[in-house]
Amino acid sequence: MKSMLPSRQTLIAVGIVLLLTLIISDQAEAKKLSVVCTTSDLAALVREVGGDRVGVESIAKGYQDPHFVEAKPSFLLMLRRADLVVTVGLQLEIGWLPPLLTQCGNPKIQPGAAGYLEASQFAEILDIPTGPVSRAAGDVHPLGNPHYWLDPANGRRMAKGISERLGQLDSVNASYFAERFKDFDQRLATAEQRWDTSMKPYRGRKVVTYHNSVPNFARRFGLNVIGYVEPRPGIPPSPRHTIELINLMKRENCRIIMVEPYFDLKTPNAVARDTGAKLVEYLPSVGGEKGVDDYIKLFDYNIDLLTKAFAAAR
Ligand SMILES: [Zn+2]
Repeated sequence: MKSMLPSRQTLIAVGIVLLLTLIISDQAEAKKLSVVCTTSDLAALVREVGGDRVGVESIAKGYQDPHFVEAKPSFLLMLRRADLVVTVGLQLEIGWLPPLLTQCGNPKIQPGAAGYLEASQFAEILDIPTGPVSRAAGDVHPLGNPHYWLDPANGRRMAKGISERLGQLDSVNASYFAERFKDFDQRLATAEQRWDTSMKPYRGRKVVTYHNSVPNFARRFGLNVIGYVEPRPGIPPSPRHTIELINLMKRENCRIIMVEPYFDLKTPNAVARDTGAKLVEYLPSVGGEKGVDDYIKLFDYNIDLLTKAFAAAR
């Protein structure tokens, strides 16, 4: 009895081949580390050193205030399958990350585990309080200022620390991650020369910022932050503080107000009108605007905005 149908043996062989293909591709997929970052800046650095050998997701988007992120079920799913979580630390994410980590049920990424990496350990941290601190003084960041990623020297150290941890978790690709870091390091050094040249004429310029988000940036590029639109970190503007700020800016001839995209512009606009200062809506994070999609482009964008504003505000 001859049939045109494939024999039983052929069917079994095809089945085995299919199964093997699935297993092998699944293993290749499993080898690619899955990294979840709390912010888009960390994700950008992971992308620099991880290349196509890691999968990267970020919880906070670049246009969001990283102090306040609404916890979503999708974040739990992301964390559940993560091999590594990278955080800013210094309590920036204290309002939303701890419950997500507890509830995701992934022991690999709990604080203290190899899959948990706080990037602040690699960075130079400013504003570390010397005396006792209390929440009454506002959202003070009692461990020091967590907005440290806006100094390229810190970005470099963070990228190096991330590449080393990726290499520990995936030793097969360790030299790939190290090479990627070297390449990033060189591109960053070239960009820094460009930024230094652009900012040089404006060293010593006085600025006001909304939140205390740019101490590392200001120190790196020689800007002098003389005040904040917030009366205290995390506390909304008050009429009394706004009047004091206006007087201070007039006295000090401060012509620039730097505002993050997630703050209300009402008070900064009023201060700008009263003092003749220019409002600079800078980006604290990668992804804050379309096209600003990597760490180097973030500085390119901000430095372009600032140098134009300084040049116009003579
Ligand atoms: Zn803050």
